Amino acid sequence: MSFKVEIGLVDSGAGENAASSSYQLVIAGGGPAALSAAIYAARYGIKHVVLESWKPGGQAALTAEIENYPGFGLIAGSDLTGAMKKQALEAGAVFRMETVESATEKNGKILVKTDSSEYTADYLIIATGAAPATLGVPGEDKYYGRGVSFCATCDAPFFKNKRAIIVGGGDSAVKEALHLTHVVSRLGLVHRRDKLRAEPYLAKKLIEHEKVTTYWNSHLVEIIGDDQGVTAVILDTPEGRKHIDTDGVFLYVGTIPATEPFASLVELDGNRAVITRNIVGTSNPRVFAAGDVTNNGFRQVVTAVSEGARASAAVFELLENEA
Ligand code: NAP
Repeated sequence: MSFKVEIGLVDSGAGENAASSSYQLVIAGGGPAALSAAIYAARYGIKHVVLESWKPGGQAALTAEIENYPGFGLIAGSDLTGAMKKQALEAGAVFRMETVESATEKNGKILVKTDSSEYTADYLIIATGAAPATLGVPGEDKYYGRGVSFCATCDAPFFKNKRAIIVGGGDSAVKEALHLTHVVSRLGLVHRRDKLRAEPYLAKKLIEHEKVTTYWNSHLVEIIGDDQGVTAVILDTPEGRKHIDTDGVFLYVGTIPATEPFASLVELDGNRAVITRNIVGTSNPRVFAAGDVTNNGFRQVVTAVSEGARASAAVFELLENEA
Protein backbone atom coordinates (compact mmCIF):
# COMPACT_ATOMS: atom_id res chain seq x y z
CA MET A 1 0.00 0.00 0.00
CA SER A 2 1.41 3.40 -0.93
CA PHE A 3 0.09 6.87 -0.18
CA LYS A 4 1.59 9.81 -2.00
CA VAL A 5 0.40 13.37 -2.23
CA GLU A 6 1.70 15.96 -4.63
CA ILE A 7 2.89 18.89 -2.53
CA GLY A 8 3.01 22.19 -4.37
CA LEU A 9 4.21 25.56 -3.13
CA VAL A 10 0.73 26.47 -1.96
CA ASP A 11 -1.92 23.85 -1.26
CA SER A 12 -5.32 25.24 -0.50
CA GLY A 13 -8.27 23.13 0.47
CA ALA A 14 -10.72 26.05 0.75
CA GLY A 15 -10.59 29.01 -1.62
CA GLU A 16 -12.26 31.73 0.47
CA ASN A 17 -10.32 30.73 3.57
CA ALA A 18 -6.97 30.94 1.76
CA ALA A 19 -7.41 34.54 0.59
CA SER A 20 -7.62 36.21 4.00
CA SER A 21 -4.84 36.93 6.51
CA SER A 22 -7.15 37.01 9.54
CA TYR A 23 -7.95 33.62 11.01
CA GLN A 24 -9.48 31.95 14.02
CA LEU A 25 -6.51 29.61 14.15
CA VAL A 26 -2.97 29.48 12.81
CA ILE A 27 -1.26 26.08 12.96
CA ALA A 28 2.53 26.36 12.77
CA GLY A 29 4.27 23.19 11.57
CA GLY A 30 4.00 20.46 8.96
CA GLY A 31 4.60 17.18 10.79
CA PRO A 32 2.11 14.67 12.20
CA ALA A 33 0.99 16.96 15.07
CA ALA A 34 0.25 19.85 12.68
CA LEU A 35 -1.39 17.58 10.10
CA SER A 36 -3.64 16.03 12.71
CA ALA A 37 -4.53 19.49 14.07
CA ALA A 38 -5.30 20.53 10.47
CA ILE A 39 -7.63 17.56 9.89
CA TYR A 40 -9.56 18.33 13.07
CA ALA A 41 -9.61 22.11 12.52
CA ALA A 42 -10.96 21.66 8.99
CA ARG A 43 -13.61 19.18 10.13
CA TYR A 44 -14.68 21.48 12.98
CA GLY A 45 -15.09 24.28 10.42
CA ILE A 46 -12.50 26.49 12.14
CA LYS A 47 -11.19 29.24 9.85
CA HIS A 48 -7.52 28.31 9.85
CA VAL A 49 -4.24 28.22 7.96
CA VAL A 50 -1.35 25.76 8.34
CA LEU A 51 2.12 27.30 7.93
CA GLU A 52 4.25 24.29 7.15
CA SER A 53 7.66 25.68 6.19
CA TRP A 54 9.85 23.86 3.67
CA LYS A 55 9.85 20.46 5.37
CA PRO A 56 6.44 18.88 4.72
CA GLY A 57 5.84 15.91 6.99
CA GLY A 58 8.48 17.02 9.51
CA GLN A 59 10.99 14.61 11.02
CA ALA A 60 8.58 11.67 10.60
CA ALA A 61 8.72 12.08 6.81
CA LEU A 62 12.49 11.53 7.03
CA THR A 63 12.08 8.25 8.91
CA ALA A 64 12.66 5.33 6.56
CA GLU A 65 10.26 2.89 8.20
CA ILE A 66 7.71 3.37 10.95
CA GLU A 67 6.69 0.08 12.55
CA ASN A 68 4.66 1.17 15.56
CA TYR A 69 1.93 3.40 14.15
CA PRO A 70 -1.29 1.48 14.78
CA GLY A 71 -3.00 0.08 11.72
CA PHE A 72 -0.09 0.02 9.31
CA GLY A 73 2.42 -2.60 10.49
CA LEU A 74 5.30 -1.11 8.54
CA ILE A 75 5.06 2.08 6.50
CA ALA A 76 7.58 4.60 5.15
CA GLY A 77 7.46 7.84 7.18
CA SER A 78 6.92 9.89 4.01
CA ASP A 79 4.00 7.67 2.97
CA LEU A 80 2.36 8.02 6.38
CA THR A 81 2.70 11.82 6.50
CA GLY A 82 1.72 12.03 2.81
CA ALA A 83 -1.51 10.16 3.64
CA MET A 84 -2.15 12.51 6.56
CA LYS A 85 -1.69 15.55 4.35
CA LYS A 86 -3.97 14.10 1.68
CA GLN A 87 -6.63 13.55 4.31
CA ALA A 88 -6.19 17.10 5.64
CA LEU A 89 -6.54 18.61 2.15
CA GLU A 90 -9.62 16.50 1.46
CA ALA A 91 -11.12 17.73 4.75
CA GLY A 92 -10.58 21.33 3.56
CA ALA A 93 -7.36 22.24 5.36
CA VAL A 94 -5.47 25.25 4.02
CA PHE A 95 -1.66 25.02 3.74
CA ARG A 96 0.95 27.69 3.03
CA MET A 97 4.61 26.85 2.55
CA GLU A 98 6.00 29.68 4.69
CA THR A 99 8.46 29.75 7.56
CA VAL A 100 7.23 31.32 10.79
CA GLU A 101 9.75 33.93 11.91
CA SER A 102 7.97 35.42 14.92
CA ALA A 103 4.76 35.19 16.89
CA THR A 104 3.65 37.87 19.33
CA GLU A 105 0.48 39.12 20.99
CA LYS A 106 -1.16 42.27 19.67
CA ASN A 107 -4.51 43.72 20.74
CA GLY A 108 -5.62 40.42 22.22
CA LYS A 109 -4.78 38.52 19.02
CA ILE A 110 -1.78 36.47 17.94
CA LEU A 111 0.31 38.11 15.23
CA VAL A 112 2.33 35.61 13.21
CA LYS A 113 5.00 36.86 10.82
CA THR A 114 6.46 34.54 8.21
CA ASP A 115 9.19 34.96 5.62
CA SER A 116 6.56 36.35 3.21
CA SER A 117 3.33 37.30 5.04
CA GLU A 118 1.61 38.29 8.26
CA TYR A 119 -1.33 36.55 9.86
CA THR A 120 -3.61 37.55 12.72
CA ALA A 121 -5.34 34.79 14.65
CA ASP A 122 -7.46 34.26 17.74
CA TYR A 123 -5.50 31.13 18.57
CA LEU A 124 -2.19 29.50 17.65
CA ILE A 125 -1.14 25.86 17.72
CA ILE A 126 2.64 25.43 17.85
CA ALA A 127 3.52 22.14 16.19
CA THR A 128 6.89 23.00 14.70
CA GLY A 129 8.65 19.85 15.93
CA ALA A 130 12.36 19.60 16.57
CA ALA A 131 15.57 19.78 14.55
CA PRO A 132 18.58 17.45 14.86
CA ALA A 133 21.13 18.34 17.55
CA THR A 134 24.82 18.60 16.66
CA LEU A 135 27.95 17.38 18.50
CA GLY A 136 30.03 20.52 17.99
CA VAL A 137 33.19 18.55 17.14
CA PRO A 138 35.86 19.56 14.60
CA GLY A 139 34.93 18.52 11.06
CA GLU A 140 31.17 18.35 11.71
CA ASP A 141 30.35 21.63 9.93
CA LYS A 142 33.18 21.37 7.41
CA TYR A 143 32.05 17.98 6.07
CA TYR A 144 28.29 18.49 6.40
CA GLY A 145 26.85 17.31 3.08
CA ARG A 146 30.20 15.73 2.16
CA GLY A 147 29.95 12.65 4.37
CA VAL A 148 28.36 14.12 7.47
CA SER A 149 24.59 13.66 7.51
CA PHE A 150 21.63 13.99 9.86
CA CYS A 151 19.34 11.95 7.61
CA ALA A 152 20.13 8.34 6.73
CA THR A 153 16.81 8.00 4.93
CA CYS A 154 17.79 10.84 2.58
CA ASP A 155 21.49 10.03 2.13
CA ALA A 156 21.77 6.22 2.37
CA PRO A 157 21.93 5.78 -1.44
CA PHE A 158 25.27 7.67 -1.46
CA PHE A 159 26.78 5.02 0.85
CA LYS A 160 26.16 1.89 -1.18
CA ASN A 161 28.88 -0.63 -0.27
CA LYS A 162 30.72 2.03 1.72
CA ARG A 163 31.64 2.29 5.42
CA ALA A 164 29.67 4.48 7.79
CA ILE A 165 29.64 5.50 11.43
CA ILE A 166 26.44 6.36 13.29
CA VAL A 167 26.42 8.18 16.62
CA GLY A 168 23.61 7.94 19.19
CA GLY A 169 21.62 5.38 21.13
CA GLY A 170 18.00 6.53 20.79
CA ASP A 171 15.20 5.31 18.55
CA SER A 172 16.30 7.56 15.69
CA ALA A 173 19.89 6.25 15.71
CA VAL A 174 18.82 2.62 15.88
CA LYS A 175 16.07 2.83 13.27
CA GLU A 176 18.23 4.72 10.82
CA ALA A 177 21.20 2.44 11.53
CA LEU A 178 19.04 -0.55 10.63
CA HIS A 179 18.07 1.23 7.42
CA LEU A 180 21.76 1.82 6.63
CA THR A 181 22.62 -1.86 7.11
CA HIS A 182 20.72 -2.59 3.87
CA VAL A 183 23.15 -0.39 1.95
CA VAL A 184 26.58 -0.01 3.58
CA SER A 185 29.39 -2.56 3.72
CA ARG A 186 30.25 -1.86 7.41
CA LEU A 187 28.55 0.23 10.08
CA GLY A 188 30.12 1.42 13.33
CA LEU A 189 27.71 2.35 16.11
CA VAL A 190 29.18 4.84 18.56
CA HIS A 191 27.34 5.38 21.84
CA ARG A 192 28.39 7.28 24.94
CA ARG A 193 26.98 4.65 27.33
CA ASP A 194 26.99 0.82 27.30
CA LYS A 195 23.24 0.53 26.75
CA LEU A 196 20.96 1.84 24.01
CA ARG A 197 17.88 3.78 25.04
CA ALA A 198 16.02 2.69 21.89
CA GLU A 199 13.14 0.18 21.77
CA PRO A 200 14.77 -3.12 22.95
CA TYR A 201 13.48 -5.19 20.03
CA LEU A 202 15.15 -2.96 17.44
CA ALA A 203 18.25 -2.37 19.59
CA LYS A 204 18.89 -6.15 19.79
CA LYS A 205 18.35 -6.53 16.05
CA LEU A 206 20.96 -3.84 15.38
CA ILE A 207 23.60 -5.00 17.85
CA GLU A 208 23.41 -8.54 16.50
CA HIS A 209 23.62 -7.46 12.85
CA GLU A 210 26.65 -8.95 11.09
CA LYS A 211 27.67 -5.62 9.49
CA VAL A 212 27.64 -3.70 12.77
CA THR A 213 30.59 -2.97 15.10
CA THR A 214 29.70 -1.33 18.42
CA TYR A 215 31.83 1.23 20.25
CA TRP A 216 30.38 1.49 23.76
CA ASN A 217 31.20 4.21 26.28
CA SER A 218 32.77 6.07 23.39
CA HIS A 219 32.68 9.64 22.09
CA LEU A 220 33.26 10.86 18.57
CA VAL A 221 35.74 13.71 19.05
CA GLU A 222 36.77 14.60 15.49
CA ILE A 223 35.75 14.06 11.89
CA ILE A 224 38.63 13.95 9.42
CA GLY A 225 38.46 14.34 5.65
CA ASP A 226 40.01 15.50 2.42
CA ASP A 227 38.83 17.35 -0.70
CA GLN A 228 36.39 14.55 -1.47
CA GLY A 229 34.80 14.45 1.98
CA VAL A 230 34.97 12.35 5.15
CA THR A 231 37.75 9.77 5.42
CA ALA A 232 37.88 8.89 9.13
CA VAL A 233 36.73 9.67 12.65
CA ILE A 234 38.59 9.85 15.95
CA LEU A 235 36.88 8.13 18.86
CA ASP A 236 37.58 8.46 22.55
CA THR A 237 37.05 4.90 23.81
CA PRO A 238 37.72 3.13 27.14
CA GLU A 239 40.81 1.63 25.45
CA GLY A 240 42.08 5.05 24.36
CA ARG A 241 41.84 7.09 21.15
CA LYS A 242 40.92 5.18 18.00
CA HIS A 243 41.23 6.27 14.36
CA ILE A 244 38.46 4.58 12.37
CA ASP A 245 38.41 4.88 8.59
CA THR A 246 34.95 5.67 7.26
CA ASP A 247 33.20 7.25 4.28
CA GLY A 248 30.40 8.84 6.25
CA VAL A 249 29.12 9.91 9.66
CA PHE A 250 25.45 9.94 10.61
CA LEU A 251 24.58 11.94 13.72
CA TYR A 252 21.51 11.08 15.80
CA VAL A 253 22.29 12.69 19.15
CA GLY A 254 18.86 14.03 19.98
CA THR A 255 16.81 16.97 18.85
CA ILE A 256 16.28 20.65 19.67
CA PRO A 257 12.67 21.88 19.75
CA ALA A 258 11.95 24.50 17.06
CA THR A 259 10.66 27.17 19.43
CA GLU A 260 12.69 30.26 18.60
CA PRO A 261 9.81 32.26 17.00
CA PHE A 262 7.60 31.58 20.03
CA ALA A 263 10.04 32.33 22.85
CA SER A 264 8.27 35.53 23.93
CA LEU A 265 4.81 34.00 23.68
CA VAL A 266 5.02 30.86 25.83
CA GLU A 267 7.18 29.46 28.63
CA LEU A 268 9.98 27.12 27.53
CA ASP A 269 11.91 24.62 29.62
CA GLY A 270 15.71 24.30 29.87
CA ASN A 271 15.76 22.25 26.64
CA ARG A 272 13.80 24.98 24.80
CA ALA A 273 10.66 22.78 24.67
CA VAL A 274 7.23 24.35 25.19
CA ILE A 275 6.05 23.67 28.75
CA THR A 276 2.55 22.23 28.50
CA ARG A 277 -0.33 22.14 30.97
CA ASN A 278 -3.15 19.66 30.63
CA ILE A 279 -1.26 18.05 27.68
CA VAL A 280 -1.68 20.75 24.99
CA GLY A 281 -2.19 24.01 26.92
CA THR A 282 0.68 26.48 27.39
CA SER A 283 1.42 29.45 29.65
CA ASN A 284 -0.54 31.57 27.13
CA PRO A 285 -4.30 30.89 26.98
CA ARG A 286 -4.38 31.71 23.24
CA VAL A 287 -1.59 29.28 22.42
CA PHE A 288 -1.56 25.47 22.33
CA ALA A 289 1.31 23.13 21.53
CA ALA A 290 1.52 19.59 20.17
CA GLY A 291 4.14 16.97 19.28
CA ASP A 292 7.94 17.05 19.56
CA VAL A 293 8.04 20.81 20.23
CA THR A 294 6.57 20.19 23.70
CA ASN A 295 8.03 18.85 26.93
CA ASN A 296 5.45 16.03 26.93
CA GLY A 297 8.23 13.45 26.79
CA PHE A 298 7.00 10.45 24.81
CA ARG A 299 7.88 11.61 21.31
CA GLN A 300 6.05 9.30 18.96
CA VAL A 301 3.99 9.86 15.83
CA VAL A 302 1.01 8.39 17.64
CA THR A 303 1.29 10.88 20.52
CA ALA A 304 1.93 13.79 18.14
CA VAL A 305 -1.30 13.11 16.22
CA SER A 306 -3.20 12.73 19.47
CA GLU A 307 -1.90 16.05 20.76
CA GLY A 308 -2.66 17.80 17.44
CA ALA A 309 -6.25 16.57 17.59
CA ARG A 310 -6.61 17.64 21.24
CA ALA A 311 -5.23 21.10 20.46
CA SER A 312 -7.76 21.73 17.67
CA ALA A 313 -10.54 20.36 19.88
CA ALA A 314 -9.51 22.77 22.65
CA VAL A 315 -9.58 25.71 20.21
CA PHE A 316 -12.99 24.63 18.91
CA GLU A 317 -14.38 24.53 22.44
CA LEU A 318 -13.05 28.03 23.21
CA LEU A 319 -14.48 29.43 19.96
CA GLU A 320 -17.84 27.81 20.73
CA ASN A 321 -17.86 29.39 24.21
CA GLU A 322 -17.01 32.81 22.74
CA ALA A 323 -19.79 32.63 20.11
P1 NAP B 1 16.88 10.70 21.94
O1 NAP B 1 15.91 9.65 22.31
O2 NAP B 1 16.98 11.91 22.80
O3 NAP B 1 18.30 10.01 21.84
C1 NAP B 1 19.44 10.76 21.61
C2 NAP B 1 20.64 9.86 21.75
O4 NAP B 1 21.80 10.63 21.51
C3 NAP B 1 20.76 9.24 23.14
O5 NAP B 1 21.15 7.91 23.02
C4 NAP B 1 21.82 10.10 23.80
O6 NAP B 1 22.62 9.39 24.71
C5 NAP B 1 22.68 10.50 22.61
N1 NAP B 1 23.32 11.79 22.83
C6 NAP B 1 22.75 12.96 23.20
N2 NAP B 1 23.68 13.93 23.27
C7 NAP B 1 24.85 13.36 22.94
C8 NAP B 1 26.17 13.84 22.85
N3 NAP B 1 26.46 15.12 23.07
N4 NAP B 1 27.13 12.97 22.50
C9 NAP B 1 26.84 11.69 22.25
N5 NAP B 1 25.62 11.16 22.31
C10 NAP B 1 24.63 12.00 22.66
O7 NAP B 1 16.62 11.28 20.47
P2 NAP B 1 16.02 10.55 19.18
O8 NAP B 1 16.56 9.18 19.01
O9 NAP B 1 16.19 11.54 18.07
O10 NAP B 1 14.49 10.43 19.50
C11 NAP B 1 13.74 11.60 19.85
C12 NAP B 1 12.35 11.14 20.28
O11 NAP B 1 11.65 10.64 19.13
C13 NAP B 1 12.39 10.02 21.30
O12 NAP B 1 11.35 10.21 22.22
C14 NAP B 1 12.15 8.78 20.47
O13 NAP B 1 11.55 7.72 21.21
C15 NAP B 1 11.25 9.31 19.37
N6 NAP B 1 11.40 8.51 18.15
C16 NAP B 1 10.53 7.49 17.95
C17 NAP B 1 10.66 6.71 16.82
C18 NAP B 1 9.70 5.58 16.59
O14 NAP B 1 9.53 5.14 15.47
N7 NAP B 1 9.05 5.08 17.60
C19 NAP B 1 11.66 6.96 15.88
C20 NAP B 1 12.54 8.01 16.11
C21 NAP B 1 12.39 8.77 17.26
P3 NAP B 1 22.03 8.81 26.09
O15 NAP B 1 21.23 7.61 25.73
O16 NAP B 1 23.25 8.51 26.88
O17 NAP B 1 21.22 9.92 26.67
